[in-house]
Amino acid sequence: MAGGAGWIHPYGSGRAVAVVVGGGVAGALIANSLQSYADVVIIDPKEYLEIPWTNMRSKVEPSVAEKSLINHSDYLSGQVITASAADVSGEAVITAEGRLVEYTYLVIATGHTNQCPRTRRDRLEQFQEDDVKIKYSDSILIIGGEPSGVELAAEIAVNYPDKKVTLVHDRPRLLESVGQKAGGKALRWLRSKNVEVYLEQSIHLESMLEGDRVYRTSSGIEITADCHFSCLDRPLSSSWIRNSELKDCLDNDGRLMVDANLRVKGQTNIFAAGDIIDIPELEQGYFVQKHAMIVSKNIKLLMHGAKDSKLLKYKHSTTMPMVSLGKKDAVAQLSLATVLGHLPAMWKSRDLFVHRTRNLLGLPR
Ligand SMILES: Cc1cc2nc3c(=O)[nH]c(=O)nc-3n(C[C@H](O)[C@H](O)[C@H](O)COP(=O)(O)OP(=O)(O)OC[C@H]3O[C@@H](n4cnc5c(N)ncnc54)[C@H](O)[C@@H]3O)c2cc1C
Repeated sequence: MAGGAGWIHPYGSGRAVAVVVGGGVAGALIANSLQSYADVVIIDPKEYLEIPWTNMRSKVEPSVAEKSLINHSDYLSGQVITASAADVSGEAVITAEGRLVEYTYLVIATGHTNQCPRTRRDRLEQFQEDDVKIKYSDSILIIGGEPSGVELAAEIAVNYPDKKVTLVHDRPRLLESVGQKAGGKALRWLRSKNVEVYLEQSIHLESMLEGDRVYRTSSGIEITADCHFSCLDRPLSSSWIRNSELKDCLDNDGRLMVDANLRVKGQTNIFAAGDIIDIPELEQGYFVQKHAMIVSKNIKLLMHGAKDSKLLKYKHSTTMPMVSLGKKDAVAQLSLATVLGHLPAMWKSRDLFVHRTRNLLGLPR
């Protein structure tokens, strides 16, 4: 295959080629860490990394996105291919446009599906449009009560206390992915800020007409709102693997099965990291950073000829999932207690770990 039509070798340097599919937090950290050791190629449909946990604040404070949307070329001197991967076959990734990208080492970090624009500028514009939409609406409906929906409702309630905010969630509790007590505390906090919350209700946007302001829930409750935001969980982005030679490495939930070294099951030179892997832990950037560290160290070890027995093993640890409630409050699920208030906010809510993430990529504040 090497040298065939469409084949890409980024530099012809003779170094190993590490291809990273997916430019989220996992892919970006791995690509950044490997670039001094290998010719790195990142494949991502966006030209930029987006730090997902800053999105909700960016809708009411678009200046946050200036720091949390980072062009891949800002932290990576290797090649950026702006495309979706569509297949893996014979030591090459094939993009949706049919380009072949050969690898010596492959990392799959495609996390969750993403409908974001291709350029950073267009994404910034989207946040500005959301900001205007919120500013000029008297009433806002939020659909979904997991971290994104709760964080957005909180940002709007704190920044615009006079607006009518309604949140509809189809589960019996908010924040089921975080913890039962965290959900209860977030519910009380939102209600104390006059956010109206409906649980065990869903809304089918498909049946609505353009310009409709009356939304009907599954049990017939009518909610009038000038605009809405859908904050439903995004599916994993693994459907592209289903027809590839790695299809048997996906579990029933569409996650890539990995071994203790974070290598894809049965593979010697293919690793995976981030939300896409089948390690039973919360989907948290904290874990993603740990995956990235193990994967990049193991690839460096293999490049230096290390035996499999010398590769690092991923050790599962615990973290403290936190959901911001505006800038001054947050709810954190600890192992023995759930804490809501200023203290957890000092960790997450003020700068949303943007500085820390930029720092890990070698970027200034
Ligand atoms: C509202 C919210 C709040 C959160 N709060 C926190 C928090 O406080 N602390 C914390 O630690 N974590 C938090 N998280 C979780 C954290 O954001 C994720 O665990 C982390 O971002 C996952 O990173 P990833 O790189 O695995 O995947 P993603 O961020 O999903 O990135 C996947 C990348 O792959 C690309 N991609 C997808 N398909 C393809 C394809 N076919 N070809 C090429 N590229 C592809 C996408 O464009 C994207 O760039 C939060 C998440 C949300 C949504």
